[in-house]
Amino acid sequence: MDIQAELISIGNELLSGRTLNTHGRDLGEALSALGLRLSRDTTIPDEINTIGNAVDEAFSRVDVVFVSGGLGPTVDDITRDALAKLLGQKIVLHQPTVEHLKSWYEKRGRNITIAATRQAQVLESAVVLFNSAGAAPGQRIELAGGRMLFVLPGPPNEFNAILNEEIVPWLQNRFADIRPRIVRVVKTKDIGESDIVTILEEHGFEPADVELGFYPAMGKVEIRLTAAPNHEASVTAAEQSLLKLLADHLDLYE
Ligand code: ATP
Ligand code: MG
Repeated sequence: MDIQAELISIGNELLSGRTLNTHGRDLGEALSALGLRLSRDTTIPDEINTIGNAVDEAFSRVDVVFVSGGLGPTVDDITRDALAKLLGQKIVLHQPTVEHLKSWYEKRGRNITIAATRQAQVLESAVVLFNSAGAAPGQRIELAGGRMLFVLPGPPNEFNAILNEEIVPWLQNRFADIRPRIVRVVKTKDIGESDIVTILEEHGFEPADVELGFYPAMGKVEIRLTAAPNHEASVTAAEQSLLKLLADHLDLYE
């Protein structure tokens, strides 16, 4: 089974070059480890219609969509409004989160403001996901046809806390029969990508059921072979052929 997911990162600062978007890497890594696949990573500005359209389009391709950013107390935090409009849902105040926010602010010697309580607003059908690293909680919204939407705050430490503490265990349980893809790595040195490809083409190296990726860096090329968990034999055979074909160019000491 191939379960694909998409990520939509929201924030003008991610597009202006002010902030490096790290969510794609973190989510891609977490999903790969589970055997799910991050199939698209989109970054969009804080615009209500752009957000709605992006989520709508993502659901036309996949059943699992992650949205991050724009859940805070400021006027540019419009993600929940965009999602409520798109899904035709009300926004409601999640009282346990208000209590959590109160103590969160108290611990920092501050009183909770009306603006801050906005972070406790969630979509009416959301399951609230506890944020151990900050204020705004995450949300899991299950939609018709088995589709699911995860909504997460933008700061990377909060995004990762909710992802690892709340979402990964839930997905593990929800997709219990899924195994991660097999990954094998063959490392070469002092040979260029195009020369590697020439060798492989000359020998008709085109393994079935195995995906090849070439990652060059500083005189070295890493070749990654990945395959679905039921193709262990194919990936092993492909790895052995590669090791033989590239025997004179292997980087064995790293
Ligand atoms: P907050 O409650 O902190 O406002 P939020 O959900 O509203 O959270 P944003 O306002 O979008 O999140 O972003 C808060 C901070 O997190 C910003 O400093 C932003 O640069 C950073 N951030 C947001 N998205 C990303 C991302 N995809 N990768 C890295 N940093 C991000
Ligand atoms: Mg914000």
